Amino acid sequence: MEEIARGWMSVSGIINTHFIVAYMLKQHGTQEQKEHFLPRMAAGETRGAFSMSEPALGSDVSAITSKAVRDGDEYVLNGQKMWLTNGGTSSLVAVLVRSDEGHPEGTAPHKSMTTFLVEKEPGFGEVRPGLTIPGKIDKMGYKGVDTTELIMDGLRIPANRVLGGETGRGFYQMMDGVEVGRVNVAARGCGVAQRAFELGVSYAQQRHTFGKAIAQHQAIQFKLAEMATKVEAAHAMMVNAARKRTPGSETTSKQGWRSTSPPNTARRSSRTPSVSTVDTGSRRSTRSSASTARRRCCSSAKVPPRSRK
Ligand SMILES: Cc1cc2nc3c(=O)[nH]c(=O)nc-3n(C[C@H](O)[C@H](O)[C@H](O)COP(=O)(O)OP(=O)(O)OC[C@H]3O[C@@H](n4cnc5c(N)ncnc54)[C@H](O)[C@@H]3O)c2cc1C
Repeated sequence: MEEIARGWMSVSGIINTHFIVAYMLKQHGTQEQKEHFLPRMAAGETRGAFSMSEPALGSDVSAITSKAVRDGDEYVLNGQKMWLTNGGTSSLVAVLVRSDEGHPEGTAPHKSMTTFLVEKEPGFGEVRPGLTIPGKIDKMGYKGVDTTELIMDGLRIPANRVLGGETGRGFYQMMDGVEVGRVNVAARGCGVAQRAFELGVSYAQQRHTFGKAIAQHQAIQFKLAEMATKVEAAHAMMVNAARKRTPGSETTSKQGWRSTSPPNTARRSSRTPSVSTVDTGSRRSTRSSASTARRRCCSSAKVPPRSRK
């Protein structure tokens, strides 16, 4: 995710959302649901989206008002959803709704929610009877991803499309998926930050003022060194969170933040941002502390030793 975001943030958004849905299916789906959806999702034939947010709420998921009512072997869904990543391009949407069946009044809100696996045609308009995707929401940025509303008006879903086959588990399932997605979002932030840093270094080496590249001005060196430190620190924190969220990873929960080098340290070290990387193409450096970054910034710009003071 980090590397993809370094190249194109929107693509990592498309994949992250798809991954969240696949993860929810893998962790919580029935055997039949896994066999039906996962191979097609892995092959890229089915793209996933998930839908918990509504026009009046995002963080406060427990306040959702969309509802499912049982009718024989089916459920009838009504309500308006908001901010679906992959909303138009997906053919499978994991939709979180309130389902009071079997959960008497007074049940904690998060225990009266169910996730439905809703299949639909990709595209906009009425993509299935009772289900409308009105169109793309116009955003300020992040435009490579389609973000949409979703309107359910008497949408009929068979009972075997309740995720995990049991109502009342939806909040837990959705939070589990979104939590993995949050680590992915952090990885995307790291990728974007790394690219910004690389571009910053590159520019500082090209742009000249007062007869030398601005990378040779001490104030700019300090800024670049601080950026390098922050990019590296953010990466370390993200990897630590990813390890904690890896199913079955015991070391992480027991050792926490002070745990030893993450498993992908070797891979990471081949692409750790260093000021020299941009200039020379060399990817050997694994250090990007403030002093290292500042020193490399100077040396790559071939500053005579005296002026480095
Ligand atoms: C581009 C984009 C794509 C999205 N994709 C999806 C998707 O695929 N599926 C989906 O279901 N949703 C999606 N969302 C919705 C997203 O999950 C919500 O926007 C998010 O949960 C925040 O909710 P909100 O926008 O209602 O903001 P609010 O919850 O109203 O938050 C507004 C502000 O209040 C703060 N705040 C909220 N609650 C508290 C609190 N208890 N304590 C302190 N501060 C608080 C927040 O930090 C924030 O600064 C997407 C949103 C965007 C912008």
